[in-house]
Amino acid sequence: MTTDLTSTPRTDSAHLAFRNVCMAFGDRQVFDGLSFSFPPGRISVILGGSGSGKSTALRLIGGLIQPLSGTIIVDGNDITRLSERQMYRVRAKLGMLFQGGALLDWMSVYDNLAFPLRERRQLRGDAIAARVRETLVAVGLDGADDLLPSQLSGGMIKRAALARAIIMRPLILLCDEPFSGLDPISARRIEALLSEINQRFTITVVVVSHDIPSTMRMASQVLVLLPDGAVEGTPAELQAATDPRIASFLNPDLDAAALHEAGRVEALPSRAQTGTTW
Ligand code: ADP
Ligand code: MG
Repeated sequence: MTTDLTSTPRTDSAHLAFRNVCMAFGDRQVFDGLSFSFPPGRISVILGGSGSGKSTALRLIGGLIQPLSGTIIVDGNDITRLSERQMYRVRAKLGMLFQGGALLDWMSVYDNLAFPLRERRQLRGDAIAARVRETLVAVGLDGADDLLPSQLSGGMIKRAALARAIIMRPLILLCDEPFSGLDPISARRIEALLSEINQRFTITVVVVSHDIPSTMRMASQVLVLLPDGAVEGTPAELQAATDPRIASFLNPDLDAAALHEAGRVEALPSRAQTGTTW
């Protein structure tokens, strides 16, 4: 789905980026000048410990909360400068897979998926049925049309929520901890589905995670939120690390100080500016 945004200010050629973003809740500062850029049509992962600001970053991208200062680019628009009406049009480009799921308990899987399509009235009845079918197949839930959410397993609920998040064919899919609460096999299934969906529908996927192995498998770009800043790079760049903070984050079993002393950890060519402070 494409939305005409010619009337909204296009301020930047970046697809999805933060520039010098500061964010706080009361006196709890979360970001102190965070900058990063995620490429279009790829999977990017935001890694970080609990409370590092991962969900906050997603909610800022979704325009659900406003930063104190800085620029947030979504598909070339600085969303901090948009009116509510303009922001509505940007939000139409976003799909959100947030924790807790988004399924309505009293509706079948089919109706949960058809509901936003019927509401927006962009597709006719037979086109709605075709879209729901294609999406159910894409998430491996073909045949689950008539089931209620209460009849689904944990992994199936995640897949149905993923179907719900992509039913409008967003440009950008935001996923907050999509593997949490799943057994390892179901988690691997969701990981594979996110990669398939990313390629099949050319959706930019942003995944918030604390799972390092899956991040290294699926990400094109990784943003690591650390207690005293943020670091951005490809999985290969981060694996080749450089900064003892990154080495110890990616390999918590290793003693970063010992690595550093042994000369296996060099200075960090950081591409991201400072990020989090506690
Ligand atoms: P993460 O998702 O990485 O675990 P969050 O982005 O949820 O972390 O939160 C980052 C910090 O901001 C935490 O210290 C959290 O308590 C605080 N925080 C998040 N949302 C709010 C809010 N609505 N009001 C006050 N503090 C918040
Ligand atoms: Mg969170």
